Amino acid sequence: MNIHTIDLFYLGNPNAIASYLIESEAGPILVETGPRTCVDALTAGLAKHGYKPSDVKHILLTHIHFDHAGGAGWWAQQGAHIYVHNIGAKHMIDPSRLYASALRIYGDKMETLYGELIPIPEEQVTLLYDQDVIEIGEHKFIAHDTPGHANHHMSYQLEDIAFTGDVASMVIYLPTPWLKIVTPPPEFNLEKWHVSLERLKSLNLSAIYPTHFGRIEDPLPHFEAVASLINHGAQFVKNGVDSGQSREEIIAAYRAHQEQIALSNGADQAMWDAHQTNDPIDMSIDGIIRYWRKKAEAEAAG
Ligand SMILES: [Zn+2]
Repeated sequence: MNIHTIDLFYLGNPNAIASYLIESEAGPILVETGPRTCVDALTAGLAKHGYKPSDVKHILLTHIHFDHAGGAGWWAQQGAHIYVHNIGAKHMIDPSRLYASALRIYGDKMETLYGELIPIPEEQVTLLYDQDVIEIGEHKFIAHDTPGHANHHMSYQLEDIAFTGDVASMVIYLPTPWLKIVTPPPEFNLEKWHVSLERLKSLNLSAIYPTHFGRIEDPLPHFEAVASLINHGAQFVKNGVDSGQSREEIIAAYRAHQEQIALSNGADQAMWDAHQTNDPIDMSIDGIIRYWRKKAEAEAAG
């Protein structure tokens, strides 16, 4: 099986966001498009394997966050069919609300970070449900509903490997891999995330492809590390909230803690600083604070 990691050099950074190319009898298949701002990098990556954009007829998205799916509309215009979780599909068909809410967060940085979203005609979108099988050429992808990072998140199993989006964490290749979880609002959910990791563990995978970035062999210890990281992150924030710290204080403490982890994994100060430009730590803290608040409200309501 021919699987290639295409580096999208997001904001000029190598090893930040990948698109995966799977060759098949039915032509090239992509998992993820990356953001709209990475169309040229993905086009160049495909050209190295002898493909042009209009050769791509099938694209699987793990979820609809812009760093994974922002370019999907452009690729649909070139003729690709898009496979996406049923919960996220409506925002791919009509991205106006998704774009407006991102604009509120990113403001005038939006154009540089992600670019515009292009609507995808409904007939070019397949809505996926848990355990759906997607047959393309000689390949059979199984869609696994894997919430935790987002409710519209699928992982795709192909034989004994899987494309895991953000649910198996980000892996940043310093001299040693630095695992990083992203826990954004409104859907970060600790319990669901653990269930998703258990599902992935049960598949007996020989390797996974996390969108940020590359390929991880023998992923079982990796899944266990991710499970303890999400517990740790959630507890870190809960301790801050319980001891009366403000959001800003928790963000500062968490950032300092992350910096220490990065530096001890071999990052130098310049790498850490560069990583800050697209690091959603504020968002991750907001996601965890919201999770605990919702949980307390649900418990109070009985
Ligand atoms: Zn995401």
